[in-house]
This record gives sequence, C-alpha cells and structure tokens, in this order.
Amino acid sequence: MVVLGNDYSGQDCGLARSLEIVGERWTLLIVRDAFYGVQRFNDFQARLEVPRAVLSARLRALVDHGVLERVPDPEHGGRSLYRLTERGRALWPAVHGLISWGSPEDPPPRTHRHERCGTELAAGGVCPACGGTPPPHEVVTERSDPSRGRDDRVSVRLREPRRLLEPLS
Ligand SMILES: [Zn+2]
Repeated sequence: MVVLGNDYSGQDCGLARSLEIVGERWTLLIVRDAFYGVQRFNDFQARLEVPRAVLSARLRALVDHGVLERVPDPEHGGRSLYRLTERGRALWPAVHGLISWGSPEDPPPRTHRHERCGTELAAGGVCPACGGTPPPHEVVTERSDPSRGRDDRVSVRLREPRRLLEPLS
C-alpha cells in the first residue's frame, strides 16, 4: 500500500517548495485578499468565512514563512495587522496569473490596470502598454460590475477602484 504523505519533501522543485508555503486550502485566498488591502483578522474572516482556527493557523504559517508580517494595529489595541512583506509581494505575478487563468468570463469579475498606462494587465500581471510587470502599488483594481460579488462589509469596500497596496517604506 502506498501511503501518501502530506508534504512534498521528496520533490526537488521550486514549485513543490512554493506549494509547501501557499498550497494549503485557503492560503492563496488569504494572500489574494492581502493584495486587495485586507489586513485585519476579522476582515479576512468576513470575506472568506473560513473557520477562525483555520484562518489563525494559515496566517501564522504565512508569518512564519515571511510572506506576511504581523504589526500592532494602531486602531485596535492588542490586535494585529497582517501585511505582505517584500517576499510576499513577489507572489503578485503568480497570483495574478492564477486569477486570470480561473477567470474565463469576458469581462472578468475584477479588473487590474497599470495605473500609469490605464491598461488592463495581461496574465501574470504584465502591462501590454509598457511591457513591464508593475508592482502591486502601481496596480488599480475594481469589480467589473459593482452590483455583483459578495456583499459582506469588506467586499463592498473593495468594489470601488483602489490601488492594491501602498509602496513598502
Ligand atoms: Zn504599463
């Protein structure tokens, strides 16, 4: 009988190593929402409706792997904000690629434009106008049809055009 392990430690490949970090259920959706500006535990929870214990474990793992950093929430004493690190932000082209790959509709549910060029990004976050791959703080996103999508308080806030992230200081 072959017993399937629950990690990819026998695989000498960058994809396997990436999946060790972002391959668990919910993890990439948490990373996606972090790109959309979600930073608070309760806001991730409102968007994803994931069990709190699972969310807590996934956030902890992302912090342990240096994808997110945990900083004190200036507005809620004793609570934390979760923010993408430089290493986490490097996932943007991959995350955008997966969003595009899974969005067969035309128009897609959500658009991502290079702010400077005003152009919708091609798969992998490449700007067809300037040929670059703009970092997340140069990308503006909005729902294609603001009347659709989830209607929890966080998702409603994320319908309007907004820059993904501020530059890392
Ligand atoms: Zn551009």
